[in-house]
Amino acid sequence: MTMKTSNKLRELIKENKKFLIVSHINPEGDAIGSCIALALGLKKMRKSVYILSKDPVPDILKFLPHSDLINTKKPSINFDVLIMVDCNTIERTGLSALGARLPFVGQGTKNIKVKATAIIDHHPTISPDKRHIIWVDSKASAAGELIYKLLKALRIPIDKKIATNLYTAILTDTGGFRYSNTSIESVRIASDLIEAGAEPWKIAKEVYESISLNCLRLLSQMLPTLEKRGKIAWVTVTLLMFKKTNTCAQDSENFVDYPRKVKGIEVAVFFREKAKNRYKVSLRSKGKVNVADIAKTFGGGGHISAAGCVVNGSLTEVKKKVLKAVRNAIK
Ligand code: 5GP
Ligand code: MN
Repeated sequence: MTMKTSNKLRELIKENKKFLIVSHINPEGDAIGSCIALALGLKKMRKSVYILSKDPVPDILKFLPHSDLINTKKPSINFDVLIMVDCNTIERTGLSALGARLPFVGQGTKNIKVKATAIIDHHPTISPDKRHIIWVDSKASAAGELIYKLLKALRIPIDKKIATNLYTAILTDTGGFRYSNTSIESVRIASDLIEAGAEPWKIAKEVYESISLNCLRLLSQMLPTLEKRGKIAWVTVTLLMFKKTNTCAQDSENFVDYPRKVKGIEVAVFFREKAKNRYKVSLRSKGKVNVADIAKTFGGGGHISAAGCVVNGSLTEVKKKVLKAVRNAIK
């Protein structure tokens, strides 16, 4: 396994003291697990660390050791280094909505001051800002893989708590070691994490068998919306469905897996109503189509086989636009 990391990043960590760690909006297992593991590792190096997230830890991930390290309150102090994990643009952090102005391209440094910015990510970026220290490896199954390598390279011992966070990061981003990003490397790292104390069955129970009854009720509302045309299958969740089942967006995480299960499908789509005439669109490819390219045409992004975007318009309009783009991509 290649244990290559970024020299510049390691130097930056060694030379500085106060770290601000951020990830993306609606954080999932990889974002949360990677941020906590990095924070715990840096703490072992006697660094001061603050994790800032626009959105709180989803209930299903609250079992993660030290999930209380994730803050949704803007810190009042300044930092030496900002590390963005599992994302690579300020827009994806959603932090400007919190009034946190991070020192990024075109952004002021009014509220939070940092001296340097680093990016640790596995999403492909087109034009990374050269002023930042960037470590992007789009072959990594999860940002958690990169954090694992970084901690190893920094010679930080991986304890049970770090291992549980990193194992969860890799487990969730590979869909339980099923998706196309599952590699020899991701499984090897996972096995090392098990050796370090991560408990696969315990974690799997938390992640996959601890959903609320309301969440299943939401699923029962969603399933009748399933439609299929050619090699595309899609489902929809409306605000009314959330209301009826007393659930929220978090509870529909991974609903796109259902249209994806259909035999013969190339692309699965999930339309989630965010607000009136505003839809979050999740796209999944079963191998041939690059859905990141589709998402990009709508101002979104992601990976080749898992991407997303937000599209404005009525449900009919949004479906028409998106499904047309998907049909063209399949051709
Ligand atoms: P999901 O559909 O589960 O929200 O996201 C799938 C993948 O696409 C994730 O890697 C996520 O980071 C990325 N993604 C989802 N929505 C957006 C978006 O609006 N913009 C960008 N740049 N990436 C997105
Ligand atoms: Mn990820």
